[in-house]
Amino acid sequence: MNEQSSWVGIVGGGQLGALLCDAAHALGLGVAVLDRDPRAPALTRADVGLVGDWDDASALLALASHVDVITFERDDVGVAALRAAEAQGVPVFPAPECLEQLQDKLTQRQRLEALGLPGPRFAPCEAATPEACEAFGLPLVQKLRRGGYDGRGVQVVRTPADFARLLPGPAVLEAQVEIARELAVLVARSRSGEVAVYPVCEVEVDPQAHRLDVMLAPARLPAEVLAAARALGERTVVGLGGVGVFAVELFLDAAGRLLVNEVSPRVHNSGHHTLDASPTSQFEQHLRAVCGLPLGPATLEAPVALVNVVGGGTRRGAPGIEGLEVARQAPGARVHLYDKAEVWPGRKMGHVTVVGPDAESALREARRLRGVLRVAAREEP
Ligand code: ADP
Repeated sequence: MNEQSSWVGIVGGGQLGALLCDAAHALGLGVAVLDRDPRAPALTRADVGLVGDWDDASALLALASHVDVITFERDDVGVAALRAAEAQGVPVFPAPECLEQLQDKLTQRQRLEALGLPGPRFAPCEAATPEACEAFGLPLVQKLRRGGYDGRGVQVVRTPADFARLLPGPAVLEAQVEIARELAVLVARSRSGEVAVYPVCEVEVDPQAHRLDVMLAPARLPAEVLAAARALGERTVVGLGGVGVFAVELFLDAAGRLLVNEVSPRVHNSGHHTLDASPTSQFEQHLRAVCGLPLGPATLEAPVALVNVVGGGTRRGAPGIEGLEVARQAPGARVHLYDKAEVWPGRKMGHVTVVGPDAESALREARRLRGVLRVAAREEP
């Protein structure tokens, strides 16, 4: 298990894949990327860019022929295709079994429960009906088992009036938690079992879109709560046998209990601040973990806030950006844009971090810059 890899294959070529490519080069690793979209930003940043489907075993075998370890930047990669690459002798981290359990929100809940980890009460639901919701008890959160991300496929059902909006398809029902604070713990675990945990982040989620809005690290909470959150994040990833960087999303509820909301077996939006505020970015750390290298320090040099730059306007099209001059002048701020060829309302186009000098001012400045930076489809000439 201590073998080291020097060529890494990444399934998925979006912004996370692109940032993994940069980190791979900085570590002196070769990198090959597979994405189905020929315009995916990571394809041109990789040493080898392959266009093909992440569900397709032959595409995975083509990727495997270039590399000695495979990882992924997205959760919806075909597990059978990953297994085909493994059968060819190229290890995959995180392990396909681990991804498989987490890809489906019901099997994920069942796995977390079997590990004895605290979470909201839940029940499987083949097709959500008013009767099933009544029997479970309101208010509840309906989550489609598969295919949802960034809050799509998640909705709160508060009263019978909401039954008209029930999402079709197999789902899991969860008791609605009275959330005092949403937290995220970024945990890295290497092939040899070494673990590094970054300082706990607090996350504000857009209540309508259910998507990360603002992130601040370290979270402003008492030391004992932070220590418990850290420990819970670590227990989760060790329990799952995860290898790589994992984002463990937690709820601190109104009664002061910590619950596991969701686990992502990959680098994550809630860890982007590590690029600017940590000696080891989540991208470098992930590669270290999956390539069998020693992990780097998971510390932060100062409090850091992050906001996403999300597509505005009403149309789809080539992106135009406003406000960059202002953002460039803001002390401690860095703007990361993902070079996406198209923008549409709600699409993540980049993020801004503000490092220090203290949590409140970093947060204030990050919120201000979110108002200043605007990305939308350019007017046609
Ligand atoms: P996604 O996979 O799309 O990120 P999540 O399962 O993380 O979806 O849910 C998105 C958001 O919905 C959470 O960040 C939280 O704000 C809210 N949410 C999810 N589950 C619950 C719950 N059981 N109780 C209350 N709010 C919830």
